[in-house]
Amino acid sequence: MTTLSSIQTLNRQIQTCSKCRLSLSRQHALPGEGSLSSRVLLLAQSPGKVEDEKNRMFIGPSGKLFNELLEHAGISRETIYLTNLIKCMLPNSRRPSQDEIKQCTVYLDKEIELIQPKLIVPLGFHSTRFIFMKYHIPRPPKNEYHKLFGRIFHSAGLDIYPLRHPTALLFNPEKRKIMMKNYKMLNKFLAVEE
Ligand code: SF4
Repeated sequence: MTTLSSIQTLNRQIQTCSKCRLSLSRQHALPGEGSLSSRVLLLAQSPGKVEDEKNRMFIGPSGKLFNELLEHAGISRETIYLTNLIKCMLPNSRRPSQDEIKQCTVYLDKEIELIQPKLIVPLGFHSTRFIFMKYHIPRPPKNEYHKLFGRIFHSAGLDIYPLRHPTALLFNPEKRKIMMKNYKMLNKFLAVEE
C-alpha cells in the first residue's frame, strides 16, 4: 500500500471516528494535511470552532497567527505536514483529558509511522508533553514547559523542536518577537532537511 492510499484509509477512519465523547459535540473530525513527503511534521493541539465548522486546519483566529508566523519565517504551508494531537474540537476550548489523548493519539502514531518525519514540531504544552512521553525524553514540571520552547531535542533518530502554539499570541502579544525568532529557525531546519 502506498503512503497516499494508507493515509487516505486512515483519514476515512478519523473522519468517521466515534471512539470518544468528542464525536458528540464536533461537526468534523480533522485529519492531517499538507505534504505527505515532507520530513517535517507540525503537531497542533486540536481544531477550534471555525476549523470544526469549515473542516480545515488552522483557518480561525489562531490560523491567521500561524500563517503570519510561517510567512515571516518564509515557509509555505504546503511544504510541511500539519496535524492535531486531538482530531475533534474541544468544547469551549477546554483542555483535553488524558483518556481523550490516549484514544485519539492512536491516529497520530499511525500518521508518524506513515509520514516518517525527521523533525517533529509539537506546538504548545499538550502536544509537547505527548511527544516527550512518546520518545522517552525527560519532562520538566508543568510550570517549566515554557523553557522547552525554541530548543532542539534528539531521540530515536528524530529531531524534536517544541514551539509555543500560535494561540499563545492571542493572550500574550508580548511573545511575538521571540515566537517570530523561534518559528524562523524552522526555516533553517527545513532547508537542512531538503
Ligand atoms: S477526538 Fe479522536 S478519538 Fe475522539 S472521536 Fe474524535 S477522532 Fe475519535
